[in-house]
Amino acid sequence: MLTARYGVLGWPVGHSRSPAMMQAAGLERYQRLPVAPAVFADTVRALGAAGFRGANVTIPHKEAALAIATSASDAAGEIGAANTLTFGADGAIHADNTDAPGLLAALGSTPASACVLGAGGSARAVIWALTRAGADVAVWNRTPARAEGLGARVVEKPVAAEILVHCTSVGLDDSSGAFKDLPLDADALTEYETVVDLVYRAGGTALIQEAAQRGIATVDGLEILVSQGALSFTLWTGAAAPLDAMRSAARARRSEANVP
Ligand code: NAP
Repeated sequence: MLTARYGVLGWPVGHSRSPAMMQAAGLERYQRLPVAPAVFADTVRALGAAGFRGANVTIPHKEAALAIATSASDAAGEIGAANTLTFGADGAIHADNTDAPGLLAALGSTPASACVLGAGGSARAVIWALTRAGADVAVWNRTPARAEGLGARVVEKPVAAEILVHCTSVGLDDSSGAFKDLPLDADALTEYETVVDLVYRAGGTALIQEAAQRGIATVDGLEILVSQGALSFTLWTGAAAPLDAMRSAARARRSEANVP
């Protein structure tokens, strides 16, 4: 019998390093699944019969993944998005969200307070995880109205806190230049004990580099990628994830791309 198939659903998904990371974890038949939004539901419903046991989900499909699932974890339901799907032989599709616990795992401990930049899909998961863990969370977003109702205090500019978590797409491409689109300068990073950047890129983002230069602890986007992938691996296999192998594979494939 063939071993189970796995993949990462996205559009585009060409630069994802999840295949390398998950293959290194032992999921040999893990592949990219580039699926356009128009055919997402039909394609995903066919995956179980095609031998797939699970799939990770990235931009722009996380909300659609939750919508077509036949069951969902509390985390996926409350965040409103799924990044992990598990397929049953009977056509069942279970939705989960490992982005939220992945952040907490990457941090290692729960901060007392956090300032989150951004109010998109990843920020929702971050705010959900931190508030559920008991942190006092402030959120800044370019479009303040979008930050309302996420369970955090909306602020007009970043405020001092134990950790800063960057969840906008600033820094995604070289043309954006450092983090000039964000309302804080590099010296303001000293107001935080730890700086977390969900974005990742070759050589590290400007935010991570500036924080590290000031002696501030950092958690980069690849560490968060590894943490959420490890939790997906355990959901599918029931086994502990080989974190070192996954981390090496993810970092070896580090490139300009920024696709989970
Ligand atoms: P999203 O839902 O599209 O949200 C984008 C966010 O970025 C919004 O808050 C948006 O603000 C803000 N933004 C975009 N351009 C901006 C600019 N020029 N200035 C200020 N704010 C700007 O995206 P997402 O899913 O949350 O992902 C955000 C980033 O995290 C992406 O780079 C993604 O690749 C990365 N990510 C990494 C991981 C990982 O495992 N490491 C996981 C998930 C996501 P407005 O509301 O004002 O538009």
